[in-house]
Amino acid sequence: MLNKIIEKFAKSPTKKLIEHEGQFVAHNYLPLPVVLVKGEGVYLWDHEGKKYLDMMSAYSAVSCGHSHPRLVKKLSEQANTLAMTSRAYHTNTLGPFIEKLVGMTGLDMALPMNTGAEAVETAIKAARLWGYRVKKIPENKAEIITAAGNFHGRTTTIIGFSTEAEYKKDFGPFTPGFVTVPFADIAAIEKAITPNTAAILIEPIQGEAGIKVPPPGFLKELREVCDDNNVLLILDEVQSGLGRTGKMFCFQHENIKPDVLILGKALGGGLLPVSAIVGTHAVMDLFTPGSHGSTFGGNPLAAAVGFEALCVLEEENMVANSATLGEYMQEQLRGINSPLITEVRGKGLWIGVDFDPKKVSAREVCEKLMEHGVLSKETHHTVVRFAPPLTITREQIDWTLEKLKEVLRELED
Ligand SMILES: *Cc1c(COP(=O)(O)O)cnc(C)c1O
Repeated sequence: MLNKIIEKFAKSPTKKLIEHEGQFVAHNYLPLPVVLVKGEGVYLWDHEGKKYLDMMSAYSAVSCGHSHPRLVKKLSEQANTLAMTSRAYHTNTLGPFIEKLVGMTGLDMALPMNTGAEAVETAIKAARLWGYRVKKIPENKAEIITAAGNFHGRTTTIIGFSTEAEYKKDFGPFTPGFVTVPFADIAAIEKAITPNTAAILIEPIQGEAGIKVPPPGFLKELREVCDDNNVLLILDEVQSGLGRTGKMFCFQHENIKPDVLILGKALGGGLLPVSAIVGTHAVMDLFTPGSHGSTFGGNPLAAAVGFEALCVLEEENMVANSATLGEYMQEQLRGINSPLITEVRGKGLWIGVDFDPKKVSAREVCEKLMEHGVLSKETHHTVVRFAPPLTITREQIDWTLEKLKEVLRELED
């Protein structure tokens, strides 16, 4: 049946395919008008055979590049051996994956889930467990401090502490127990702490907010504030983690460690949804049989691919490449003298370019870039992100910059 449908549309224009999708798929996204059919490394191809350079990497899920041969091989081998068991049984894949992951973070134990939002939910539960059992916060009084502009996913609890009206409208009532402070404001965080504060949940760099980088030293100060007040530090590195910012984890830029680290996206090697929380014994030992779970979390296929993705990230120089080429690309972007650009921000290969909304919308820039063979995605109407697979080369970045300059010239006219 599916084959028949695909065949029916194989030679039809892109517009038809997009209309067809829109007829059946709920309109909870506004994709760029391109129909992708193939990916390899940093490149994507559309329905009509046009080639694009991917500057989005599926929000960092494809940090290892599209269909990385080693990961595809592992996926296929494991699928042919043992794919799904549920955690009702032990497997020979989960232990090695989690040992590797834990070792890379310098923390003690991990709990595997599937999507980023599920891992955030798991971290919230972990914080509350610790709050009641260890900090002795009175029942149902635990508070978690979050930052304005945050993005932690789309479950009802998580959107409850989002500050984006669009994410929340008509989805209430929301889960209580969350407090909002301005991002990267240490004084505001200190002021918001009460005896019932269990944790601070924060992105070390805010991604969806527009690649907002806090001032240097912020994480170090935050760690101290948490230690001084007996509050857990939970870092959501679903997008910033696994090499994106030029270190394996963003917290390593300031030589601190969180109590709980949330990972996802790139952890699945661009092939599967794989997420996890990693934490200290003080927190992770509190989970007991029955206290939390997920049918698919830590399944053999996910564990095998996750393990291989971590190996690939370590062994193929991707993190160093992110640091070096990220700095290079930012420098080059800052060197572009365009009246349309107001700011360039970022760390590693995670760069946000702010456009002047009086002159152009970020969406227009993305659509123009698409015409020129570069795929990106706007965030917040004014920011265009550049976050390619970490395998990108300097030549490919130079090519992208040339395309961007062409687009800017066209838009400036
Ligand atoms: C994408 C993202 C999430 C949510 O991940 P999903 O897999 O979409 O549920 C959570 N936190 C951050 C920082 C993210 O970028």
